[in-house]
Order: sequence, then structure tokens, then C-alpha cells
Amino acid sequence: MDNCSLPEVTILPSATKVKEGGSLMFECHVSGTPPPVASWRTERLHSRHVFERRVMVSTLVLVLQLLEVSSKDNLHNLTCEAENQAGPGEDMVQLDIEFPVRILFLRKAERQHHWCFPFAVDGNPEPTIQWLYNGKELTENRYTYTQLFPDTDDGSVKHGCLFLNKPTHLNNGVYTMVVRNVLGHDQANATGLFMNSPADNFDDGAIPVPTNTSNKHVTESKESRLFVISVAVGLAVFACAFLLVMLVVINRCGQHSKFGIHRSSVLGTEDDLALSLRFMNFGTNPPCTEDDSGLSSFVENPQYFCGIIKDKDMCVQNIKRQDIVLKWELGEGAFGKVYLAECANLSPDSDKMLVAIKTLKDANESTRQDFQREAELLTVLQHQHIVRFYGVCTDGEPLAMVFEYMRHGDLNRFLRAHGPDARILEEVKMPPLGQLTVPQMLHIAGQIASGMVYLASLHFVHRDLATRNCLVGEGLVVKIGDFGMSRDIYSTDYYRVGGRTMLPIRWMPPESIMYRKFTTESDIWSFGVVLWEIFTYGKQPWYQLSNSEAIECITQGRELERPRTCPKEVHLLMQGCWQREPQQRLVIKDIHSRLLALVKNPPLYLDILG
Ligand code: AMP
Repeated sequence: MDNCSLPEVTILPSATKVKEGGSLMFECHVSGTPPPVASWRTERLHSRHVFERRVMVSTLVLVLQLLEVSSKDNLHNLTCEAENQAGPGEDMVQLDIEFPVRILFLRKAERQHHWCFPFAVDGNPEPTIQWLYNGKELTENRYTYTQLFPDTDDGSVKHGCLFLNKPTHLNNGVYTMVVRNVLGHDQANATGLFMNSPADNFDDGAIPVPTNTSNKHVTESKESRLFVISVAVGLAVFACAFLLVMLVVINRCGQHSKFGIHRSSVLGTEDDLALSLRFMNFGTNPPCTEDDSGLSSFVENPQYFCGIIKDKDMCVQNIKRQDIVLKWELGEGAFGKVYLAECANLSPDSDKMLVAIKTLKDANESTRQDFQREAELLTVLQHQHIVRFYGVCTDGEPLAMVFEYMRHGDLNRFLRAHGPDARILEEVKMPPLGQLTVPQMLHIAGQIASGMVYLASLHFVHRDLATRNCLVGEGLVVKIGDFGMSRDIYSTDYYRVGGRTMLPIRWMPPESIMYRKFTTESDIWSFGVVLWEIFTYGKQPWYQLSNSEAIECITQGRELERPRTCPKEVHLLMQGCWQREPQQRLVIKDIHSRLLALVKNPPLYLDILG
């Protein structure tokens, strides 16, 4: 095209400071050949606004008037877009709306690494924050300090915590947050109940406000001190006994394999979860009922998937039992043992191959049919980052599935064995690889993302993505090795809340916890948790919380903390996966390409603490 030029877009004026409730006027000047079409992007604007359109000589002028400017638009990037056959053009100005500071919330202290009073404040110009403890000024120090969380992606709202490091009953009381900016001030109270003191006889929630806390403790009698000490010793003995019991339980869980972990350490006992759900008001009816097909309503793999299988006319390979020689046990899932085996006649290139054999114990006619159906599904899933399925062995008992052998086992164990606590965890059997580096972690994450891109392209919802369900092979090759659908095939009881409940709640987004909604977007949330697992060397998400506390945190919108070894770019990815609105979460293709870019160009990361 002759005389063709890209649109030129300029917003006037570029200064945008105004007080809340005031008005602003902007002109967007657009020129270009051929004449571009142009518009303001106002769909996310809260302030009332009107448009006007003027055409000057060769320039189109779009006027946008903001009336009664809302503080919600502070820091909003006002954008004017234009396009012609030559391409697009745009200009942007950031709104700077001044308004009195206000406290959006201040909640009672909750336990994280340290105790935290979570708060959110909003105000422009930036407010100052001050704290009072029982009405008196609280001096911040290394044990009591305010911390704001960067990049919360919430406009000008600042989220943060007043942290208290190891507070005792001496710190119980009323904490007042006072915020000020030049346009106003606000304050709010929250209670901190960290430990019950025998001297303070109060119930949860009814915290007395001592008029002179320090004096009170100075004048404690010898008897009361003695009493405090004996209670403390009693508590310590109880804590030790409790720890011992926990160690025994954890030890037992450790002997189970992946499915075992689902049953116990990840999900806790059935009662624990049922309790949690009741606590969250989900549990009056059994949250998971059976539908007509007899499957739990958690069991919802799309019909569409079956269509694909039929279209492809898949054939599941039948492997003769006599071709399989078991070597030793690799682990045990909820539905049977997993063995390392040598298998003959699998491939024309080699006469014997190492394989992993998953057996199915106690098979009846219906589980046999389910087994066959899963085998058909697994036959369809073929990708370099999905563990390879070779076929089934159905002549005789037990029924078995034959998979490619992944030498380093499941990714969670692998991460722990290559993290700072490898010695404590005594994963001595692992080959020495040293501690994983950030580029290696990115490489692992990129491979899982690649497998997920493939599953999403088939509209397959995994529902249980976690590092324990990924496998590690030679040369740091990582593959997704276990599928959500295994649960429905092997046991429809698996997701029953009324019966045996084993939901991977720590990996689940709020909508899956509250409404049992599992989608490609809920898989994205889990992928964010997988990233977190990788960058914490296999820590359990919300390890410091019980199941019910984890449910409460997730549904309240709390996020897992940024791991120490995690570059900012990766933390942004995690946060993109943990958007509360499923539609606002990143899509797996973008996550994958961003990870690939980071693998090629690893971010410079200095662990200043370590
Ligand atoms: P699962 O029944 O899938 O939970 O597997 C139980 C355990 O067996 C896992 O934690 C792995 O350690 C091991 N395992 C499962 N599949 C394989 C495989 N293909 N290659 C090597 N080890 C495996």
C-alpha cells in the first residue's frame, strides 16, 4: 500500500494528579494513513466517564472526561488504542488520584512462620503506619515489625503484616493500627492471643486489655511464677509426647508410596478433612454424592476424551506375563504395588527393557473393565513429558500396567534429596547431584509445563498435579507420571468426602475446595503450587498449617510465601497461577513459553540470606 503509516497516538495532558471526586479530561490525538480506528479502553475503569469525538484536519481527537474520579482507579493505566492496515498504536497515562488513607482490613493475629496481623491499606499520598499495643505506642524492632508485600497486583492497595517473632502470653492484647497521610487518617484494632497465661483467665476472643502490662508481671507473686513454670514444663512434656506420636505417624506414612501420601500426610485423616469441611460450612450434606452412573460427582473426565479415543481406534498392547521378570519393589500406591521389572519383546530394538509395573490388587469384574478403560486412555496420552505407557498384562493375576521406568522415582522425593535438608531426610540412595540450581529447577518446571500444554490441548483436566505425581528419569528428564483419572478407575471411593476423603486440598484453588470445580484453570493453580514445591526443594505447601487451617487460608485468599531461592520472575508466574478468578489465571501455553525463555536466559539470582 502506498503512503501507509502506523497510527500515531498521543494522550494530552500527560499529568494526571487529581483528588478523589474531582474530574479529569484527556484528549487522545490519533493520526496515520489510512485513517485509523481508535478508542479508549475503559472496561476496567471505575470512575464515571463520558466520551466525545472530534475530527480535526488529519487528526482524530477522542475526548474522555472522567467525572467524580474514583480512588479505585488510582494507578490505573488509561489507554488509548488505534489501528489501521499498517498495524496498531497506543498511548498510556497512569492516573494519580489522591485520597485519604483508609484501612481495608486488619485481622486478628494468625500463625505463619511468625505470627502475623494481616492488613490492607489504601491511600495516596503514601500513608505512614504506626502501631499501638494496648493503647501505648509500639516500638518496632527485629521481633516486632511491619512488612509490606510487594507486587500484590491490587492497584494502590498495600497488603502487609505486623509480624511478631515467637510471641508469648506477654504479647497478648489489643493491637491498634494507625495510618495517616496528608488527606486523613484511620485506625483499627485487632486482638492477639498467642498463648494462654495461667495468670490471665480469659477465653478465646475475650481479651482483657491490661492497663499496665509490664507492672503486672513485675509484681507477680512467687507462687504464680512457680505455677507458670510448672504449667510450662507440663506443656513441654505434652509437646514432646505429641511430637513423638507425630514422628511415628510420619514415619509410617513415609513407608507408603505416592498414593499412601495422598491418604495420610497430604490429606490427613478422613475425620480431619470432614471436620475442616464442616468447619467451613460445607459439610452438612455429604459434599460428594453419587450420580446415576454410580461414580462420585468428583469423577468427571470429559466424555469428549472418549470420542477422541474412538476416532483414533486405539489398541492397547497386551504384554505376556512370561515376558515380564520382576526385579524388586519400587513403591506402593493405594491400589497396588509398583515393581521394577525386565520386559522382553517390548521393542524391536532391544530384547529386554527395564520397565515399571503397576499392579492392581483385588480385581473384580467391574474394576477389570475400569482397568481396561484406563489402559485405553493411557494409550492415547503420548508425549515426551508424559510417562510412556507400554501396555497391560491381563493373562492371570494380578492385573498389571507396564510403564517406562523412570530411574529417579517421583519428583517430590527427588527434590528433597537434592535440597538443603537432604542429609536430615537421609535420602542416601539417590545418586549425588548436589543441590539443585535455579536453572535446573526452571528446566524441571518447563518440562512439566510442556506436559500440561499437551494435556490441556486434549481438554484433559488432571485434577491432581503435584510433584509426587511426576517422575524423574536419566539426565533430569521429568514427566507427568500419574493421572487424576487413576482415582476413578481404581476406586470411585477415592474422592468421597462422606466416606474416605482424599482431596489434595493444598494443591487446590478455592473454587475446587468450595464447589468441587475442576477445570484446566484449576490445573493452572496446581501448577503454581508445583512451581512452589520445586523452588522449596519439595516442601509440603502450607506445611506449617493443619488441613483445616490450609483450607481456611486458601479460601480466604492467602498465598504461599515466595521461596528463598525463587527469582522474582518465577514468583510472578506463581502469582499468575493463583489469581482467585479462574479466568484471570495465566494460560499454560504462556507459562510454558515464559519458562522456556527463563531456561534460555536464567535470571540472575543472589540468595542474600544463604
Ligand atoms: P504410584 O502408584 O504411581 O503412586 O507409584 C508409587 C511409587 O512407585 C512412586 O512414588 C514412585 O516412586 C514409584 N514409581 C511409579 N511409577 C514409576 C515409574 N514409571 N518409574 C519408576 N518409579 C515409579
